[in-house]
Amino acid sequence: MMLRRIGLGLIGVLLAFATAASAQSGQYPIFDAHIHYSQPAWDSYTPERILSILAQAGVRRAIVSSTPDEGTLKLYDKAPKGIVPFLRPYRTRDDMGSWPRDLAVAAYVEERLKRGIYKGIGEVHFGVADVDAPVVKRFAELAQDGGLFLQCHIDDAALEAMLKRYPKTKMLWAHAGMWGTPATTQRLLDTYPTLWVELALRTDVAPGGVLDPGWRAVFLKHPDRFMVGTDTWTTSRWESVGSSMREVQVWLGQLPRDVAEQIAWKNGERLFPSP
Ligand SMILES: [Zn+2]
Repeated sequence: MMLRRIGLGLIGVLLAFATAASAQSGQYPIFDAHIHYSQPAWDSYTPERILSILAQAGVRRAIVSSTPDEGTLKLYDKAPKGIVPFLRPYRTRDDMGSWPRDLAVAAYVEERLKRGIYKGIGEVHFGVADVDAPVVKRFAELAQDGGLFLQCHIDDAALEAMLKRYPKTKMLWAHAGMWGTPATTQRLLDTYPTLWVELALRTDVAPGGVLDPGWRAVFLKHPDRFMVGTDTWTTSRWESVGSSMREVQVWLGQLPRDVAEQIAWKNGERLFPSP
């Protein structure tokens, strides 16, 4: 009798440990807000292989944008429920620096948006001096009119200028600006209701696997405004999707479950419902 009680107690401890371990090693499904399938990757990775890499990393759905946009369509055609297409305006990488003042890029985007499949425009790169440039303005209008998100890889000064200049356009801040601090991110989220933030490549969220207290505080204050992401910006990144998602799962496991679930996938599901 005594032995049996000890045995059951031990099983209870082991079960509790297993639950904690699985939460830490990563059992949350993932909505990945930052994937590219751009031309250099097409020869090395077929769409089927890409979809299998994402699935093995626990990614159930992903925002995809590509240079050129055909890469996104290759994945979307194979998995329309799993791929959330964003229209990247770069026809080639050469458009990356010149697009804010290139009216041909605006015409290209307007034409492609007629497909009616896109949930956002971006990811785009620009600076605070471009906020009033004609094509930036046109994209903000197109996003507002179409209920689309504008995914911007910009610094906090450019972001705040955009939020003030185009207050009705939904903004998805790529990489939290790459260098945006938790304090800046919190202030912007407090101030601007049209802002959401994704955390691709932000290893400072959990240096050495330990969730940073500053980020933790912002996540707890605004659990409905964050998403995670990978950013396959270069072909070799496809080898790191699994390990980068494992790192994300480690810090998700250090948050309250309801907060972690929102950041891992529920926010993405809410903002971009499955078709
Ligand atoms: Zn990117």
